[in-house]
Amino acid sequence: MVAIVAALTTFVVIFGYAVLREPQRFVSALALPDFITRTPTLLGEIEPTETRPPTATRRPTNTRTPVPSRTPMATVAPTATPRPRVPQHFLFGRPVPPDAASNSPDRFYLYGTTGRGEYEVHHGEEFVNPLGTPVIAVADATVVVAGPDALPQCGAGGNEICGRKPDYYGNVIILKLDQAYNGQSVYVAYGHVQKWFVKPGQRVKQGEPLGEVGRAGIALGPHVHIETRLGANSYAATRNPILWMRPLPGTGALAGRLQDRNGNLIRSANILIYADDADGTYIGDTETYSRDPYPHVNPDDKLGENWAFPDLPAGNYVVHAYVGSLIYQRRVTIENGKLTFIVFGG
Ligand SMILES: [Zn+2]
Repeated sequence: MVAIVAALTTFVVIFGYAVLREPQRFVSALALPDFITRTPTLLGEIEPTETRPPTATRRPTNTRTPVPSRTPMATVAPTATPRPRVPQHFLFGRPVPPDAASNSPDRFYLYGTTGRGEYEVHHGEEFVNPLGTPVIAVADATVVVAGPDALPQCGAGGNEICGRKPDYYGNVIILKLDQAYNGQSVYVAYGHVQKWFVKPGQRVKQGEPLGEVGRAGIALGPHVHIETRLGANSYAATRNPILWMRPLPGTGALAGRLQDRNGNLIRSANILIYADDADGTYIGDTETYSRDPYPHVNPDDKLGENWAFPDLPAGNYVVHAYVGSLIYQRRVTIENGKLTFIVFGG
């Protein structure tokens, strides 16, 4: 009898502890009736282990005595640390001067996203600035294209249209950086410019004026569209510029991979970022890369990311990823000048 009572008491304490430790598992189960029909395996996909400081809860002891001790779980760090050896290749700077109206990518329409379904899948980043704002060389480079993009002048033989279709950028400037990456050439394209002061073959130094922000081609308003192309000067060879542009002073970049249990990328899912403060202040959100067959956007060769967020002030954050009724959560630390990378799911 004593053994049965002890066993029941132990179960109640452990269950109560689990509710305290991971309340969202149980709240979700109650709030969403369809959850009740799901298997425990699905619930187990939530990754709450790094989302709450364990010091706020009590910890049951390993003895028969079911009285919880107050021993804090000192071995569990209260914040997640960046994964070691995240490949970083911040090779270049910003395409507009530091005093420009905006020298950070517009967060509504980041690389690989659709602006919440409003637009085609984005192959670059938008720097929204008034007409006439100078665009400058992001690094020491050679100009390979400058001017209207109605005719083919990209691709290995110059036989490829530079964008999705002719006159896509209106006018485009494309640089081939002096610095290659793992033997692959790195190109940076500036779309929709209204003026250009350079010509193909010309050498440019970082910060040198190349032209002016415009609204040429398909642009709906004044901005410069920036693309990173790796290995080929092709619209099919783009990569996420956030992974290549040095973060603004005092900030770092955040990227991640949201995948299913088979390791396949989950597309068009919402990622929300909050400050890890008492209020959980909302910072921003984005979408995982959508499918675009015309052509695809490309994850980094080593990271395999499917979302990235630019220029977060150094500090601690909580990231949520939404997949159906599941919410993945992860605490992250952003370091000055660095890339933090996280994987959800799988
Ligand atoms: Zn764009």
